[in-house]
Parts: sequence; C-alpha cells; structure tokens
Amino acid sequence: MELDNIKIQQNYNKIFEDIKKYSPYPEKVKILFVSKYFDVEKHKAIIDMGYDYFGENRAQLYRDKLNEFSDEKYKNIKWDFIGRLQKNKIKYIINSVNLIHSIDSYELLEEINKKAIENNRVINGLIQINVSKEESKTGIYIEDFKKDSEKYFSMSNVKIEGFMTMAPYEASQQEINSYFLKMRELKEEYQKKYNYITELSMGMSNDYIEALKNGATIIRIGSKLFE
Ligand SMILES: *Cc1c(COP(=O)(O)O)cnc(C)c1O
Repeated sequence: MELDNIKIQQNYNKIFEDIKKYSPYPEKVKILFVSKYFDVEKHKAIIDMGYDYFGENRAQLYRDKLNEFSDEKYKNIKWDFIGRLQKNKIKYIINSVNLIHSIDSYELLEEINKKAIENNRVINGLIQINVSKEESKTGIYIEDFKKDSEKYFSMSNVKIEGFMTMAPYEASQQEINSYFLKMRELKEEYQKKYNYITELSMGMSNDYIEALKNGATIIRIGSKLFE
C-alpha cells in the first residue's frame, strides 16, 4: 500500500470535523490511528507527519514494531493494544502499552494484573463488552459484567478506565445505534460509582459517526484514514 500523505491528512481532518459535528463532547474525543496495516518504514513516515497515538492488534507484531521505535524521538508516541490478547503474550506489551482496550475476561484481567505487579507498572485498561452477543466476537456480556462487577475494579495494578466494544459488521444503522447506546448507558452507570471511568472506545471506519453520537471518547480508525 502506498502512503499518500495529503489524503491521510484530508481524511483525518474530515474525521476531526465529524467529531465536532456529532459528539456531545468533542473535546473529549481522541482518534486512535489503527496502524496494524503498516510496516515499520511506513509507520515511521506516518509519525513524521505528526501522528502520535496508535493502536495495534497483534501482540507479537506490537513487540517487533516497538523494538524499532526505541529512538529518543519516539518517546512521546502512545501505543494502545486493541486486539485479542492471549495470556502468554501479555509480556510483549506490558512494559510499553498506554491502554489495553481488549480485556475480554476476568481471567485475562487477573493475569494482566499479575504481570503488571511483576513489572512494577500500573496498567490502564478497558473492559471489552460483547454488546451484540455475536458468537464470533469476544468480550463480556453486559449482564455477566453487572452480576459481579466489583471484582473488575479490585485490581491493585490495573486501572479500569472504561469500556470497549465492536459492533457487528453487518448490522443496520439502527442496530448499531442501539448497541452503542447500551454502551453509553453502561459507561454512565459505572461512572457514577467509579469517577475515574472516562473512556468509551467504540466506532471504526464504517460506524464511527454512530459511535460519536452515542458518546464515544476513543474512535479506532484504520482504513478510512488512507483509503
Ligand atoms: C482493525 C481494527 C480497527 C480499525 O478498523 P478499520 O475498519 O480499518 O477502521 C478498529 N478496532 C479493532 C479492534 C481493529 O482490529
């Protein structure tokens, strides 16, 4: 894939305008640049354009990439993890990750906490919710989360800052809206109990406008930026 700097900038600006147009609180919204599509060389070119907040979805590739970004000039780049995380691969991301969006089970959360303690870090994380109950998606069902939610907030070294979800790709606009609204209600309910809950990660290239309308604070955008 060829990089077209001007196109990326135009697409980014368009999304930025959409944030102002559709979000109830545009100043709280961040665009996470999903960089899984790019090799190191292209990624460096994108950083040179001024972008500094990226999301990767494969733990091993995340590690391999970050090894190439050890230079001082990359020290302010923020790296989020958005993909399915296997317990034995937590070690690849634990020392550099800014936010893990994809904590999709209590067992995974416990394991991240353990690794965080071992590495003397406090990790910021989001609970991934399977809001549509699609079998192909991972994440915790809202009812299951609510049954014993206190335990998710009891970790010494993982701070849960909010929730993440992915809407089914084939869903209608109306369905997507109802899923995202449920997520917004979930976040607002828990924000009352835990005032450090601030984030709602939802919306990708094809559904970020619905996500913005429903209060997303992080939209995860890949293909829309360069296509
Ligand atoms: C790839 C990916 C995205 C971005 O997808 P696009 O459709 O390219 O915007 C967002 N979230 C997750 C979890 C992804 O894996």
